[in-house]
Amino acid sequence: MKRLTPLGDDPAYVDRYVAIRNRKHLAVRNQLIAAHTFVEERYDELNEAIADDTLRLMAVDGRATPIKVALRACYEGATQPLRDLKKAIIAAQPKRLLKYCPMCGTTIHSTFDHYLPAVRFPEFAVHPLNLVPCCSKCNSTKDDDWLTPAGRRQYLHAFSDEIPDETFVRVTLHEEDAMLGVGARFSLVRPNGIEASTWALINSHFDRLHLLERYAELSNDEIAEVLSDCRIFIDAGGLDVRQFLGHRAKERFGIHGRNHWRAVLMQALAAHENLDSWLEGT
Ligand SMILES: [Zn+2]
Repeated sequence: MKRLTPLGDDPAYVDRYVAIRNRKHLAVRNQLIAAHTFVEERYDELNEAIADDTLRLMAVDGRATPIKVALRACYEGATQPLRDLKKAIIAAQPKRLLKYCPMCGTTIHSTFDHYLPAVRFPEFAVHPLNLVPCCSKCNSTKDDDWLTPAGRRQYLHAFSDEIPDETFVRVTLHEEDAMLGVGARFSLVRPNGIEASTWALINSHFDRLHLLERYAELSNDEIAEVLSDCRIFIDAGGLDVRQFLGHRAKERFGIHGRNHWRAVLMQALAAHENLDSWLEGT
């Protein structure tokens, strides 16, 4: 996982909202036009909270309540400006980064998560920093409890949380009985350089989205695929399979960050003493 690039502010975020709003039915549009100052204020507040790293202090604003249906309607229906906004958010990302969901790293993004839940913060239904491209599993697993009872954030915010450039996703490989398979167990290990608050946030993100369990479930297939690629490499005359795997892992670390589970897995395979015997298996 790597931080996503926030959408540029030309056109301004609030102008994108206005373009979407203006495509809605008259009744919705008029309600939102009457409340425009409120929405503008809230956009400023959110932009500042993200810039100052005080996102956790964003409070629900009662002024949204009477117009919540109209505000949320902005994210419903495929208006052209909404389609353009979604496309622009995706286009702002470096190539290949979104091959994997930025929240879990397991599969391609297919939807958008409202980081600040739309039920509580309907005014941010189409705010570009509140629309995180992600997979449907993450979107449905992440609940509206974005804060702990003590007011700490529970999930990493893909546009603003810088993931420390240190390895904390670890894997142990083990041979599984009877089926010549290789299994993997993932864990989080705190590196010395990570602050307690950052570490708590990373832990909570992994825990709430069940990431270690999801990686373990996927790893059998992933290992089989990697070993198959290695055999193809060897059959084609490749000599140093460990180096081949190591290079592939490194390339993925470069794109998806040091804690991308697939790359962690490849690196562990490359270094494992049993690799040669696993490659001889069928
Ligand atoms: Zn995901």
